[in-house]
Amino acid sequence: MMKCTICKKEAHFRIPRHNVKFCKLHFDEYVLNQVKRAIKHFNMFNKNERIGVAVSGGKDSIACIDILNRLGYDTVGIHINLGIVDFSEKSEKIVLKFSKSKNIPIYTYLMRELFGLSIIEIGKPFSQKICSVCGKLKRYYLSKIAKEIGVDVIVTGHNLDDVSATLLGNLLFSNVQYLARQYPVIPAENNNPKKAKPLVRLTDQETKLYLELRGIEYVRDTCPLSKGANSLYYKEALNNLESHFKSIKAHFYFSYLDKIQPLLENKLESSFGKSSCKICGEKTSSKTSICFVCSIKSKLLKNRG
Ligand code: SF4
Ligand code: ZN
Ligand code: ZN
Repeated sequence: MMKCTICKKEAHFRIPRHNVKFCKLHFDEYVLNQVKRAIKHFNMFNKNERIGVAVSGGKDSIACIDILNRLGYDTVGIHINLGIVDFSEKSEKIVLKFSKSKNIPIYTYLMRELFGLSIIEIGKPFSQKICSVCGKLKRYYLSKIAKEIGVDVIVTGHNLDDVSATLLGNLLFSNVQYLARQYPVIPAENNNPKKAKPLVRLTDQETKLYLELRGIEYVRDTCPLSKGANSLYYKEALNNLESHFKSIKAHFYFSYLDKIQPLLENKLESSFGKSSCKICGEKTSSKTSICFVCSIKSKLLKNRG
């Protein structure tokens, strides 16, 4: 019988990167402690701030809102139905079911109403890089919604696998301005709320086990548009490395933050948008003074006649 490292009762979970095994109770405690440590260490937010969690319905966002709620934070959810046919319909249902069962308010929106087109309708001309477009639209509307509903911090469920994959991608292509923004908390800027990622100390596998332990439903399907996304290759490469070098993902990300990110401090300033978009007023670093969202909106709507 596998024994819990703490209480020596039967263990159900093994965390190879920490060389520990946990019973249900101590696994749950471990997850909550990892999130508490991340919030404290990176000084992410406090209990007087109102937290808006971006809830897609996937395991990380559902785990994130559940954990913050259990830790006593003033938490609401924000869900944007992207309009990716059945996948988005199923996701919204799961999100609303979670909201009801835990009594946590989740505001829901339709990308089609926010932007004028759903992601599937935008998809065609951008099929090669739809995830990049989708990501930018989500960030843009999350900030707008957060200001409208009055939240102080936008929280996303990015975990260690996500942030280390993003870091790898940005290093491979020397994206210096993005490399300056790898910290899991970005202060309020340009009238937009602070952003934080409190799950950076947990892996894909750990958030999944957490939800299974809590008996909480989440969207298990992957987005049908995710095929071929670069991040999948970066994750695969890091998983391969992790199987040879225990804890390499955590080491890669946290030692980068510690030793390299401070050297890029002067690049952080220049990564903020400098002028205001002539159409919507949001800050943009675009030379034309029209932000990415307004620019693709006008192109797409023009194409549709
Ligand atoms: Fe959007 Fe890509 Fe995520 Fe699908 S996989 S929700 S298209 S970012
Ligand atoms: Zn135990
Ligand atoms: Zn704009």
